Amino acid sequence: MEKITPNDIRYSDLVSKRFNKRFTGKPEYIRLPTSTNEVVAALQEAVSSKRRPVVRSGGHCLEGFVSDPTAQVLIDMSLMTSVAYDADKSAFAVEAGVTVGEMYRRLFLGWGVLLPAGEHPGIGMGGHVLGGAFGFICREYGLAADYLYGIELVTVDASGKAYSVIATREDNDPNRELWWAHTGGGGGNFGIVTRYWLRSPGSDGADPYTALPKAPASVTTFRIGWEWKDFDEISFSRLVQSFGAWCLEHSKPDSPYIQLFAILFLNHRNIGKLEIKGLCTGEHATRLINEYLTAVAAPVGVAYTQQIEVSPWLQFALNPFPELFMPGVDNVQVKVKDSFFRKPFTDSQIATAYKYLTANLPIGGVLGMATYGGKVNTVGPNATASAQRDCIMDVACNTGWVDELGAGPSLDWVCNFYKDLFPGSGGVPVPNEQTDGAMINHPDTDLATDEWNRSGVPWYTLYYKDNYPRLQQVKARWDPLNIFYHALSIQAAR
Ligand SMILES: Cc1cc2nc3c(=O)[nH]c(=O)nc-3n(C[C@H](O)[C@H](O)[C@H](O)COP(=O)(O)OP(=O)(O)OC[C@H]3O[C@@H](n4cnc5c(N)ncnc54)[C@H](O)[C@@H]3O)c2cc1C
Repeated sequence: MEKITPNDIRYSDLVSKRFNKRFTGKPEYIRLPTSTNEVVAALQEAVSSKRRPVVRSGGHCLEGFVSDPTAQVLIDMSLMTSVAYDADKSAFAVEAGVTVGEMYRRLFLGWGVLLPAGEHPGIGMGGHVLGGAFGFICREYGLAADYLYGIELVTVDASGKAYSVIATREDNDPNRELWWAHTGGGGGNFGIVTRYWLRSPGSDGADPYTALPKAPASVTTFRIGWEWKDFDEISFSRLVQSFGAWCLEHSKPDSPYIQLFAILFLNHRNIGKLEIKGLCTGEHATRLINEYLTAVAAPVGVAYTQQIEVSPWLQFALNPFPELFMPGVDNVQVKVKDSFFRKPFTDSQIATAYKYLTANLPIGGVLGMATYGGKVNTVGPNATASAQRDCIMDVACNTGWVDELGAGPSLDWVCNFYKDLFPGSGGVPVPNEQTDGAMINHPDTDLATDEWNRSGVPWYTLYYKDNYPRLQQVKARWDPLNIFYHALSIQAAR
């Protein structure tokens, strides 16, 4: 396995492989392992030479955990891309370097099945599944982590020796806690996942065609668009209220609408439009969508455009809503501030949103509200490490900019917007009646600062709630030298 150093033509291409261009790293060298043994060797070499290793799979980290100036060795998993049915484990084995889109493609073409996972096809499975991983079909099928049967991890023992270990969810597996920590503990904490084994919780996995959910034949998507200029604060409130009221009523696991997922894009007025994009599967998709629009869009009382389309599953999964994720802009810098909601926005939160979204500022930003719940809420809060299991919405304040001058106003806007949404709880969504912390797959280092988190509730409780002490035990056992760390990494139990 070669060492890719800065004078190698591949180096600059590899260091710039990241979605969020806000952070930059300059590792001394990069390794591209092709097997678990090569990952062990690459990690051993870094540790023995006292260099700090970091691992990257898809490069979609929203914070600078990988693109970190203090990281000296980058272990890039992008050549480990196998997807296969493993008859020994009765589960699908998916290597960490596989992208979410490639995983969808291989599982569907090979066996007609799917794993519910994230929205952007370019995300790497390596850093995704272990953070819980929600997406367009989570209300119908749950989180990707709910299908995790086992992992293969490369880590380092107390003597500094790198080795690989397998952990499964079997009750009699002595490494079961290590498996559990990878069902929501987040990336870059315990070691390098080389491979995931995946199968449905209720399946014995013996038949690959039923080991994961059967993919839908088609997906019906819908797009609703309003002109911002047609809104005032009253109609804006009606839109946010009707979206939230629907989520409150229809997020239980037995709702007839769990096949329906939608995101309300409350774009800044500079962008000109307010939108809902969503999808539904199953034979009643069109009816369910029409009922949804009657419940959510019609009461707003403002004219809208509507587009409903049917796509085959794979076509949708590989290119969902192509206009999302800033197409054509490959130097975008972003900040995402996430929060889980158990109840809809209050009137004062709606007023705050209106104020920030109509502020006369040179910024681009959006408050995104995604439906949640359904199947996700059938799992107990400590059955996996993904603790939030009775929420109805995931809400994120987002901004992006391409030139440096945009950074100041955009960050100022997004951080204050988020803070002002939670005035009664120190500027963050503490676990309470209405809110329930945030998602570790959308990490936000502000939550660990006194400036932006005045709640007295530490960042780790916001992400992991009561599961944190258990994650700390796993950290102490499996990464005793704290080789794997970043700004929001799990601290070992003493
Ligand atoms: C455009 C975009 C869309 C997104 N959409 C969704 C979504 O729909 N649902 C959702 O849940 N999340 C979503 N995310 C968040 C995404 O799931 C996380 O950022 C995830 O960690 C990305 O994994 P990665 O391998 O691509 O990232 P990387 O940048 O490679 O890694 C992210 C983190 O995981 C660690 N890591 C990477 N590989 C491994 C490994 N093999 N073993 C152990 N640790 C590893 C890294 O060290 C780092 O800390 C989105 C992010 C972006 C930028």
